[in-house]
Amino acid sequence: MLCLGIESTAHTFGVGFVSERKGKSEILGGHKEMYVPPKGSGIHPREAADHHAELCADVLQRALENANVRLDDVNVVAYSQGPGLPPCLRVGATFARMLAARLKKPLVGANHCIAHIEIGKLTTGAEDAVVVYVSGGNTQVIAYAEGRYRIFGETEDVAIGNALDTFARAAGLQEPGGPKIEALAKGGAYIELPYVVKGMDLSFAGLITEAEKRLKRGARLEDLCFSLQETCFAMLTEVTERALAHTGKNEVLLTGGVASNRRLIEMLQTMCGERGATLRVVERAYSGDNGVMIAYAGLLAYKARQILKPKNSKIIQMWRTDEVECGWLSEKAKSEHD
Ligand code: AMP
Ligand code: MG
Repeated sequence: MLCLGIESTAHTFGVGFVSERKGKSEILGGHKEMYVPPKGSGIHPREAADHHAELCADVLQRALENANVRLDDVNVVAYSQGPGLPPCLRVGATFARMLAARLKKPLVGANHCIAHIEIGKLTTGAEDAVVVYVSGGNTQVIAYAEGRYRIFGETEDVAIGNALDTFARAAGLQEPGGPKIEALAKGGAYIELPYVVKGMDLSFAGLITEAEKRLKRGARLEDLCFSLQETCFAMLTEVTERALAHTGKNEVLLTGGVASNRRLIEMLQTMCGERGATLRVVERAYSGDNGVMIAYAGLLAYKARQILKPKNSKIIQMWRTDEVECGWLSEKAKSEHD
């Protein structure tokens, strides 16, 4: 069983392949290209979509070569159905429909957030973790219960990756800002910034506005980068610890683009160590948006018979993690109870 996955929710257009034999999934590889906005501006959905449309055939070709598979051997075509930027989502959905029709193979819509979780589980062996999903467009602390991934805490405004990118732009750094901030933070000292945790939810907007104000007033960029990381990541670690205490789980899975940040990993590691919990971090190659994670989530959905008729294959701009019926997990849960 070979599944082709297409990612196109925001800045990345990716194609990846995952195969399954005797119940064992294997990542075969893929290729991705990222739209980088002009310096000083954020992602422009229409321009990102044009980038994806221009490159989709090349990305497919290179993905086939990297994974060493033939298009004719594909059994299932999966695509990121949402959540995401509509113009970008439409390019991926159209490309997927075209491929499924040409190959005469079933079409599956994968939820992008669930794909980040499932690729994290596949690459780390996490089984029943509190998931810290941190990316450019999403910030959620999630745990599985009764057929769905439930959201225990989330951002009330911008996502953490978006917050870091916004500050980086204000500081004249090139996109994506997260890695630049991580590098600059190494030479920084602590400045107090607003720490906003409301119950289990987080807010990053005021924190970024304050950091931008301090920058204009002449604070050192290294100090602000250090303090942004310390504050944002401490907020996340606090909510994650409470989710662990509430659910009684003893495993944390860190996934999404911001998961490659060493300081975030360190803070979560300290918290987990103190509680006797295990931290698992998604493999770096699959932390940011990619086609492989969609191929894997698509394979799971296909096995749970979640196949789309072409007329139902529209995009879902706002598709929350907790709205997805995870048939593959409930079936597993059922068989475990039998
Ligand atoms: P994704 O949306 O999952 O592709 O993740 C992209 C986001 O991850 C962007 O907002 C990046 O700035 C952020 N990111 C990537 N690497 C790092 C890093 N080392 N530290 C913090 N944020 C990062
Ligand atoms: Mg993502």
